Amino acid sequence: MFDVGWLLRFGAAIAVIGAGPGGVIQATFEAIDEAANVSEWAERGVQFPVDDTARPTSTTYVLPVADTAAASWIDTHSTYPATDIFVGCGATLVAPVSGTVLEVRRVNSYDPAVDNPATRGGRSVAIHGYDGVRYYLAHFETIVDGLELGDAVTAGEVVGTMGRTGRASACHVHFGISPPCPGKEWEVRRGVVWPYPYLAAWRKGEQLSPVAEVEGWVEAHPEACAEAMADPFAVDA
Ligand SMILES: [Zn+2]
Repeated sequence: MFDVGWLLRFGAAIAVIGAGPGGVIQATFEAIDEAANVSEWAERGVQFPVDDTARPTSTTYVLPVADTAAASWIDTHSTYPATDIFVGCGATLVAPVSGTVLEVRRVNSYDPAVDNPATRGGRSVAIHGYDGVRYYLAHFETIVDGLELGDAVTAGEVVGTMGRTGRASACHVHFGISPPCPGKEWEVRRGVVWPYPYLAAWRKGEQLSPVAEVEGWVEAHPEACAEAMADPFAVDA
């Protein structure tokens, strides 16, 4: 199912990581650009800027929930780094960063009998922040009308309401931080670094960026995207 060309290009892009500040950002961004030429994103009409100088490279950070005072979370998660944030069913969800909408899943296709990991997020949204990092929000009850792949969003912009679609027993938003992969996958998207220290900072108005930690993770896991995209369930992501 893979286009070998972009996998090779992605590998080449990864190889430049560590070349200097912003290396991973540039690498992932170039990979997305390359993928956009051949992938379903292009088929869906998503246009990522070809010239990355046209795209902002920084963003402000806010909690992905509007009612920050009511938000609660614990500093653990099931089997991988991510943070489940609780406010209540129907609570307003917002973009945690300014960036480009990377995925919008409006159909909750999760079936407990199958427990496909690619659909555990239920209705979900992923945003490619202007900082280069991917932010994944899952288990939405509703996603705002008109929000589409390729749209620009601003930190704090309303994107939907909190629910429990997918594999979730109580209403919450699953929040994952990861590098964007240049193809369908679920294993990286769900989260690779712990969000809760950033959430704690953002609630206090501190602009703590996960870029350095995500860069470090990519350097330590250069094959993660390729391996995640090779998973049989990746096609359902
Ligand atoms: Zn979760």
